[in-house]
Parts: sequence; structure tokens; C-alpha cells
Amino acid sequence: MSNVVLELKDVDVFYGDFQALFKVSFKVEEGMTFAFIGANGGGKSTLLRTIAGLQRPSSGHVLFHGEPVDQFPAHKRVGMGIALVPEGRRVFPSLTVRENLVIGAYGGRKGDWNIESVTELFPLLKPLMKRQASSLSGGEQQALAIGRALMSNPELLLLDEVSLGLAPVVIKRIYEAMVLLVGSGHTILVVEQDVQHVLTVADYVACFLEGKVALEGKPADLTSEAITAAYFGM
Ligand code: ATP
Repeated sequence: MSNVVLELKDVDVFYGDFQALFKVSFKVEEGMTFAFIGANGGGKSTLLRTIAGLQRPSSGHVLFHGEPVDQFPAHKRVGMGIALVPEGRRVFPSLTVRENLVIGAYGGRKGDWNIESVTELFPLLKPLMKRQASSLSGGEQQALAIGRALMSNPELLLLDEVSLGLAPVVIKRIYEAMVLLVGSGHTILVVEQDVQHVLTVADYVACFLEGKVALEGKPADLTSEAITAAYFGM
């Protein structure tokens, strides 16, 4: 029996009069890596923010383990096991690396993630504990942002623009970390610009175009021509 962690049913999201998502529906099973691709403005960040509770659907539902969470604020969803790593690696710049990690645990669940296990996953953070987050490189900040989300012991990890602007060596480590996280029971939703790279780890992919799913399927079932066509709306 498959275990559906997350389900979206006909989700519409507006910013004022502007509709960013149109009747978006999908299911995510436990232990899956689900990738969202598509050109800028397609609605991918809006989608993750809606799942995290930072944006409300005007109609439709977000279900976590079959329970509608539409009325739950973001902090309650963190406590249920949903953690977002937002676009742009938003760490608290004036706090130290350690303080950023400690804050990540606030309101979260009990579990195996703590400063020690996060630094085992991202050893590059170990010597930086006392450093102010603003002084870190982009890659270090992304590792910290992911580590901070892990401190809440999430079941479902939402990663927005996971590798954008990072050095190849850091991207490699982050992708290795994603594989390890799924191996240890996490479920991952990832927004990624680097389509080829994300298809190497994704079990399922959905391409967004102007707020709608233009193409979806298992990577092995999708041709690069079909992906390009969906990506550019051809
Ligand atoms: P990107 O890769 O550029 O982040 P995306 O696929 O993540 O693109 P979103 O950021 O979700 O797309 O944006 C979807 C649409 O909603 C875009 O047209 C964007 O301009 C619009 N939008 C996003 N945030 C807001 C906002 N706060 N107010 C008004 N419109 C917004």
C-alpha cells in the first residue's frame, strides 16, 4: 500500500487579482523526490509557499496525511513535519550559524536532527558555528538553510531553487544530501532550474507553465523534447 504524505486537490492561488496557480492537483508518496521545473514565474515558489502555509489557496485543498491543513498557519505545519527552505537561502544574517540552527528547532518535532547530525550531513558548517551567517558564502548559506529546516525534524522537506547560483562542489554535496535524506525516510519536494541535474534524483517531475502543470511523469517516461516543449509552452 502506498502512503500518500501530501495531496493537493484543485488548488487555486491568487495575489490580488492575479491568479498564480490554476487547479493544481497531485499526490506525493512517502520517500519520494518530487521535482518541480519550469520557467520563471510558472508558480513553483507559490506552490511550495502554499504547502508551507505562507500562502492560502482561494479554492482547493492541501492535505497532509489525508488531513486538510488549509486553515493551519505555517508554524503549525512546521510542528506537523513540513519544513520550507525558501528561495534565496534566507538565513538570519545577524545571527551566528549555531543560533540559526537552534532557531530552526523551535516549534519543530522531536527526532534525530540536531546540531551534531546536521554538521555530519554538512561538514562544511562545522568550523563556521560561531560565524555570523551574513559572512558565509552562498553555498554555506544554502547548507545552513537546509540544516536549519532539518532542525525541525520534518517529514516533508520543501526546497526552493536548491542549487541556483551555487558552486558545483556545493551543488554536488546538496544533491548527495537529498539522496541521503530520502534514504532516511524523508520526502522531498524540490524546485530546480537545473532540469538535467534534478532528473537524476527525481522519482517524479512536474513542469509548471503559467500556473498550470504543463507536463508530469516519471523522468524515464519523459523525453527531453517533451520537457523542452512544456518548459517553453511550445
Ligand atoms: P521564479 O523561478 O521566478 O521564482 P516561480 O515559478 O517560482 O518563478 P512564482 O514566484 O511562484 O513563480 O510566481 C508566480 C507568479 O506569481 C509570477 O507571475 C509572479 O510575478 C507572481 N507573484 C509571485 N509573488 C507575488 C506577490 N507577492 N505579489 C504578486 N504577484 C506575485
